[in-house]
Amino acid sequence: MKKLGLNTICTHVGEIKDKQFKGAVSPIYLSSSYEFLDVDVKRYPRYFNTPNQEYLAKKIAALEHTEAALIFGSGMAAISHMFFAFLEKGDHLVVQNTLYGGTVNFIKEEFPKYGITYTFTNGYKVEDFEAAIKENTKLIHIETPSNPLLTITDIKAVVKLAKSKQILTSIDNTFASPVNQNPIDLGIDMVMHSATKYFGGHSDICAGAVASSQEHIDRIWNVSKNLGGSLSDMTVWMLERSMKTLGLRVKAQTKNAMKLAKWLYKHPKIAKVYYPGLKTHPEHKLAKLQMNGFGAMLSFELIEGLDAYEFQKALKLIKPSMSLAGIESTVISPHLTSHALLTQEEREAVGISDQLIRFSVGIEEFKDVKRDIDQAIAVLT
Ligand SMILES: *Cc1c(COP(=O)(O)O)cnc(C)c1O
Repeated sequence: MKKLGLNTICTHVGEIKDKQFKGAVSPIYLSSSYEFLDVDVKRYPRYFNTPNQEYLAKKIAALEHTEAALIFGSGMAAISHMFFAFLEKGDHLVVQNTLYGGTVNFIKEEFPKYGITYTFTNGYKVEDFEAAIKENTKLIHIETPSNPLLTITDIKAVVKLAKSKQILTSIDNTFASPVNQNPIDLGIDMVMHSATKYFGGHSDICAGAVASSQEHIDRIWNVSKNLGGSLSDMTVWMLERSMKTLGLRVKAQTKNAMKLAKWLYKHPKIAKVYYPGLKTHPEHKLAKLQMNGFGAMLSFELIEGLDAYEFQKALKLIKPSMSLAGIESTVISPHLTSHALLTQEEREAVGISDQLIRFSVGIEEFKDVKRDIDQAIAVLT
């Protein structure tokens, strides 16, 4: 079969045919116990192979242009299982310094207990990764665009470096989603997602996923079946329903983000805008080269004297909200949430000021988003 297009994959790949009643959508199989006599596959929820889990994984693998995928109960389950599958006592991880806060905490709090060492890079350039590599480095983990400053890492360059030293690579592709970036095509070994974000897309699901070759997925599975952490089939089904519109949603959100970034950039009350789609972004050209679209996440800083906290309180339509990537626009102060466990110095070192606001752009009409921002600024001035 010819390679299917994005929205066709979203709609159709991994559908379970309802042979009994001929319904249009996948049935939900809630059994936690399946027959073991005369069967090819011994199915059990924690083995990640109930029908709904197995079939939705096909959709995720297809979206990431690879062979296989595993679905987890959260993004952190996906990332932790992936790390534990490829790192053991005595191994070393090189990890990008600008990174989702939860991943930073996981590495710092858990790795020492298992004798795994790590180095956070000093930056996101390929030289920074090279400088961090040691004899026993087994994996390089990157995040691009990164949270919350939307830095862009040169995926191909990092892959080339890693391959030259026989080191595996993994990426957190949550911010871009497969709609805007396909890292497997650029040589990355493993792609992980917080499916709580764009995959779910409606702020009502907590899930995660890893997509990779069958060989790597088998290795992760061997660890995951011991750790547990599979997603309930009810939620897997909801995730399938959500993912049918992944392409539509993310493209609409990306379009809105571009408009919003351009408008904020010219806004007299906005000091800085971080968005890879802007020509002023330091890695704009690289983003254009390695992404299909610039994504729907951006960050900005209000000018001195305008309080970021009060600004968010004054918003009426846009929600100050812990998470991101829903169809509704949300904002957050990274220093109070995702990066709250970092020290002030650590935050300053990576450029996260108290004025910084991260914006997850939704599907609302652009004029209504603009109006809400302007009315909130008017409340402060
Ligand atoms: C939210 C998020 C995670 C963690 O996912 P959970 O589903 O909250 O466990 C990891 N990486 C990125 C970039 C995220 O935004």
